[in-house]
Amino acid sequence: MQSPTTTDLGPLRHTAAHLLAHAVIDLFGDDVKLAIGPAIKDGFYYDFLKSTPFVLEDLPRIEARMRELIAADLKMEGKPIKRADAERYYTERQQPFKLDILAGIPSDEPLTMYTIGGFTDLCRGGHVERSKKVGAVKLLSIAGAYWRGDEHNPMLQRIYGTAFPTQEQLQAYLDQLAEAERRDHRKLGRELELFSIEEEAGPGLIFWHPKGGTIRRIVEDWLRDELVARGYDIVYTPHVMRLDLWKTSGHTGFYKENMFGPLEVEHDRYQLKPMNCPGHILIYKSRLRSYRELPVRLAELGTVYRYERSGVLHGLLRVRGFTQDDAHIFCTPAQIEREIEDCVEFAWEVLRVFGFERYEVELSARDPARPGDYAGTEAEWQQAEHALMSTLDRMKVPYKYMPGEAVFYGPKIDVKLVDAIGRPWQLTTVQFDFNLPRRFELAYVAEDGSQQVPLMVHRALLGSVERFFGVLIEHYAGAFPAWLAPVQVAILPITDEQVAYASDVHARLRTAGFRSEVDASNERLQKKIRNQQLQKVPYMLVVGKSEVAAGTVNVRARSGEQTSMSVDDFVAKLAADVAARR
Ligand SMILES: [Zn+2]
Ligand SMILES: [Zn+2]
Repeated sequence: MQSPTTTDLGPLRHTAAHLLAHAVIDLFGDDVKLAIGPAIKDGFYYDFLKSTPFVLEDLPRIEARMRELIAADLKMEGKPIKRADAERYYTERQQPFKLDILAGIPSDEPLTMYTIGGFTDLCRGGHVERSKKVGAVKLLSIAGAYWRGDEHNPMLQRIYGTAFPTQEQLQAYLDQLAEAERRDHRKLGRELELFSIEEEAGPGLIFWHPKGGTIRRIVEDWLRDELVARGYDIVYTPHVMRLDLWKTSGHTGFYKENMFGPLEVEHDRYQLKPMNCPGHILIYKSRLRSYRELPVRLAELGTVYRYERSGVLHGLLRVRGFTQDDAHIFCTPAQIEREIEDCVEFAWEVLRVFGFERYEVELSARDPARPGDYAGTEAEWQQAEHALMSTLDRMKVPYKYMPGEAVFYGPKIDVKLVDAIGRPWQLTTVQFDFNLPRRFELAYVAEDGSQQVPLMVHRALLGSVERFFGVLIEHYAGAFPAWLAPVQVAILPITDEQVAYASDVHARLRTAGFRSEVDASNERLQKKIRNQQLQKVPYMLVVGKSEVAAGTVNVRARSGEQTSMSVDDFVAKLAADVAARR
């Protein structure tokens, strides 16, 4: 989670990490080995090694001790120290990780020890001067972390916490955290039966269950219709291709550690695709192109496989297999601005349709001081960066200019959407590429008969379908609008006598193209309603004796609203909802 003041809170949180170590030593003594304790984006942590591991019940005690240290308004004081003295200090206290840190600091670098209260730590500085300035602290969790992130080293325990200048700010952050937890797509994915990850199949691989599959189909159908309407051609490319292709593309070099290992078939080596680009390039290259055919826009819902360490995998957000809504545009320099504008406009349509109201745009440009680090010519970079900037300016899109952030093969625009609780998510990318067209010797015949290299743009709007689904689940907290909801209507007969009528209403809804189900179980009505509320179904239709007699349904909207209407009127109401994507 981001708060606008996060960057200013570094010194405060770094000081809180010292106080955490201070409190731990006070309570558990020198049995505890200390590692490192930095400030991080949303708080701070400290890594410890303790013979009997910390348990969650320890956190309130440690936190209480930290509060005492804060209230005591201790002064943080730094003193230079000679290397030999620092080594003696930590040898006496039997602190192997601190000695390891010392060994890693170049011998000409000056060392400082900082003391706050009764606790002294080797540190470069960057603190608030008194403990009272730490304000309000909260310890949040304990996780395992290898020393120096290396699995061959001892496993330490990392205690995470956060700190804010005031209790109110801390509480606001904790409330947001609780809200994020309530929306966690992994939890909702299980409860709503949307998807799963099966240990038997392997980590980071997603199984889309029927309800998740329904949402995916709707998203993909919408996307495919839009692609066709916007002049893209939809293509399909193989999941495995010769390893040599990935040598030509350069992926076996700069992308090697992100790929699954090669497979051997008939003495030939094949590679599971980590990207769709080379496949689309082969389609472009299958014959000589004329300028008259350009732009060529090839789109694919292309499934790719990438190696991610198991430790960083996270639900739908970090996975090993995912489907990109990928497209590659091959065009002439004269066409490029129009193409970029269409991509950005398409991205806005995605935001609008899926109910995101806010966004942030970043333009990553090259570092002008290091022209040698990039593929492509000076003129190409100038033209590409100019095309991106002037398009955003013309569209009056505010953006953050980020020199030095471009990858080596071209500048790009990233669009981050901001979800219902203010979190930014990176999804859309529009990326120039000066590298692959040369590596694959792409060409087109220009108007004057000469052969030219086309401009190539990679672009993905949703990014990964899996990740986008994770974001959608959290954005809507699982309460999908009617057009996306896997079950749009639940029909609840009050007793067995109304089951036949309920089935009739169900059939009419199905015929009209809606997704409904009948709860014909023996549960009491209140229990049936509760079950559907937990499933976050947009509409429940309660049918009892009087509804059967009048040929109506009692409509209970997810919002709590209740009305009685004819089945035809309900069909019209739902159709209007779906059409408006409400
Ligand atoms: Zn420090
Ligand atoms: Zn690509």
